[in-house]
Amino acid sequence: MPDDDTASARSRLAVTRREALAAIGGAALTTSTGTTATAVAGDRRVPVLVRVYPGAVPLRARLWYGRDALRGDWPPPFRDALAAVESAFEQVLAYARDRERLADLDIRVERGPPIRFPPAETPLSADAVVPSLETLLGRFRERLRKRDALTNRTCHLLLCWSPLNYRVGYGGTLSPNALIGDPDGGGDAQTVANVGATEVWDSRSVSRNVAIHETLHTILSSDVVADIGAAVCDHELGAAVRTAPDTLRISPMATAYAGPDRLGGGTRFHGTGCYDHDRFYRHDGTEGIENWSYTTELSEATREGVTRSLERRFGD
Ligand SMILES: [Zn+2]
Repeated sequence: MPDDDTASARSRLAVTRREALAAIGGAALTTSTGTTATAVAGDRRVPVLVRVYPGAVPLRARLWYGRDALRGDWPPPFRDALAAVESAFEQVLAYARDRERLADLDIRVERGPPIRFPPAETPLSADAVVPSLETLLGRFRERLRKRDALTNRTCHLLLCWSPLNYRVGYGGTLSPNALIGDPDGGGDAQTVANVGATEVWDSRSVSRNVAIHETLHTILSSDVVADIGAAVCDHELGAAVRTAPDTLRISPMATAYAGPDRLGGGTRFHGTGCYDHDRFYRHDGTEGIENWSYTTELSEATREGVTRSLERRFGD
């Protein structure tokens, strides 16, 4: 992770990835392509799943990543986004384990099969050319339903490649399928990370963080978020830390929200969800900042928020 500019974060993640997880005991994070099972929230014998699906990537874009990326469903940006999501849950479980929490919860990050959408029925509509987030998420859910992939406790993350789709932006999720384990949405959540947008307009480190960001939105409950530092939205659990007089280092939940609300304020585009820098878990201000760096290391508030949300929804 060349853009994680905290040496300790790098080494810690390098250790936690496989070795430390083996020692977690009850709480386990595994990556597999295992079969899914239907369950109800609160049934701890059935794993909580995070399934990551690769969308279609045009040949033109694949060429940027070299000949090896011409085949297969997981070009480097998608592979890195998946690895970032895995690392996020490894961090959460390591945090929880240190506090003897989530001991019996099994969380798995899996690779899902590719998602390809057929041409829209109304090819001349705006939604066919530039689908809205709502349309995209609706098609995604329909595809999951047809594949019988809904389990009542899975977060389905679609990695899409739509760099020009301003309606989807960097991605997002919408209720009633915005929260995993929420009975109103049937228990499964869908979310989209527009890796095409982050790759074209920003950088790989932003791609990693947005993949984590859009996934964790489906875990964080608003009541838990409100309990932590009086945050009013998930973004405020993020951190923006000044590591030099002109450099701000931004964690996943703060990504796209840490800079001033203008074009090129941090990320090329600013997020459109709610936020208030004064309420961030930590925000060192943007005055004099010229360099924006991104770390996949979750803020402590985010780790606590995800741990607590999982406890409330899937614990005893
Ligand atoms: Zn967000």
